Amino acid sequence: MSLVDLMSMAKPNLESRAKIFSKLKGRDLVNCFQCIKCTSGCTALKLLELKPHEIEKLANLGFVDELVVSDVLWTCVTCLKCVQRCPQKASPYHVIMALRNLAVEKEAKIPEAFMKAVSQILETGMAEAYQKISKGTETFDRESLKLPKICSPGEVFQTLFLKALEEK
Ligand code: SF4
Ligand code: SF4
Repeated sequence: MSLVDLMSMAKPNLESRAKIFSKLKGRDLVNCFQCIKCTSGCTALKLLELKPHEIEKLANLGFVDELVVSDVLWTCVTCLKCVQRCPQKASPYHVIMALRNLAVEKEAKIPEAFMKAVSQILETGMAEAYQKISKGTETFDRESLKLPKICSPGEVFQTLFLKALEEK
């Protein structure tokens, strides 16, 4: 369902808004004055159903429950350009990350690619599996390129990673 549909007749939820604010340590969402510098530089703008400054505004108004279940959250590519461009330390990136965390807490639908990346990190220590490369008719892997073998993460890493995932 699109965010526009979800927003129809929606009411702000001040409790959820307070949760987002508590996750934004050092970033003050209320200081956003809608200058649109974040949106004008956003790498993912073509993918986003809502523009970054609009996400900022909706979260500020308390329409957090609608944002949390929207796909719009997961189209940000975390390039941090809005962090650099925001004159008010209120960048949408931090709001979007806080909303994603809340989405996980609320067990909202998380895109499959993100879940796959989490299990991949747990198993191999990397967000993406390493790949073979082709040059002309030849294909190379790490072994044929004489690159060192990548070790799988140890138990300590896996325990800390799982602990970090459980922290709210
Ligand atoms: S988040 Fe920052 S850059 Fe974006 S509209 Fe608000 S003040 Fe401007
Ligand atoms: S971090 Fe996300 S919202 Fe900010 S500029 Fe990059 S893609 Fe856009």
